[in-house]
Amino acid sequence: MISPQKDNLILSSFVIDWYKSQGRVSLPWRHNISPYNVWISEIMLQQTQVKTVIPYYLRFLKERPSLESLFEATEDEVIALWSGLGFYRRARNIFKAKEIIKTEFNKQFPKNFDDLKALPGIGASTAGAIMSIAYQKSYPILDANVKRVLSRYSNINEQSPSKRDKQLWEVSREVTPMRGIFEYTQGIMDLGSIICKPKEPDCVVCPLNKICDSAFQVKDGLKASKILKVKPIRDIQFTLAYTNSHVLLFKREEKTFWDSLWLPSEYPRMHKITKSKSSSQQTIRQKHQLTHLELNLSINLLRYNKVFKVKTNAEHRWINKSDIDRFGMPAPVKKIILSL
Ligand code: SF4
Repeated sequence: MISPQKDNLILSSFVIDWYKSQGRVSLPWRHNISPYNVWISEIMLQQTQVKTVIPYYLRFLKERPSLESLFEATEDEVIALWSGLGFYRRARNIFKAKEIIKTEFNKQFPKNFDDLKALPGIGASTAGAIMSIAYQKSYPILDANVKRVLSRYSNINEQSPSKRDKQLWEVSREVTPMRGIFEYTQGIMDLGSIICKPKEPDCVVCPLNKICDSAFQVKDGLKASKILKVKPIRDIQFTLAYTNSHVLLFKREEKTFWDSLWLPSEYPRMHKITKSKSSSQQTIRQKHQLTHLELNLSINLLRYNKVFKVKTNAEHRWINKSDIDRFGMPAPVKKIILSL
């Protein structure tokens, strides 16, 4: 797929030299490299920007510094460490993957590509990143940033996503070097993130500007910036029962957003929380943005003098407010609880 006159080694050598002098070598996951650290960072970086990930990565590694320490974590504890980062399926997959590593891999982090790719949440690109960064083996990657660099570099305009990905994987395999794989992999991800940006790529300072088929010609990003994306709006009503010290939360089981997180009771499932016994009532309204959805939250706060038994089959708990960091919950819910 790559044009015959292109020399694959040139791209990787340019990327490697650029990474050594201008790459983001100080990012926290680029120190104390281990398969475990690379795995956690790569999962967090899926669909989330670097600056958002940094505090979550540091907190996760502080609480669970090693694979051994993660073996002891419950699913709730893993999701709690993810609270606020979004896309919670990633946290559930980390939990599932560590259970598989514990039982099927004798507690050893997998060392080959196929075993990694078979774990929940790890696709070909993430497995390639772990192989090349943690084990320094030559494997191609194709995350969103690398896709953008390589599609511009090779001027791939295929409209069908599956055909386009196939072509891009081919290019990625062809340009991935045997030597310097650690620097190349980090470098090409950085290049896509900070130079070859979706809008207005900075071709002037790009190390590929002499070999890239799209150098100084990218206009689609400018057009795309003018397209306003309208997100669907969803109204959700919650009832949050609380006392001086506790809040009543339910584990959400619907397979939609916020699946497995702890939330207040959602209308119309009132779980027989009786308003009449509450000592005060108040309603808070908030908007909250998810990636593909805008939520209009209405939270009815019911204050009680003491906790009470709730008749429901749904998993629920009166959680001490001082313990809420141990439970996964969406950022706006946590913020409201902390304000009570
Ligand atoms: S030259 Fe421009 S379009 Fe090509 S990879 Fe670099 S930043 Fe992207």
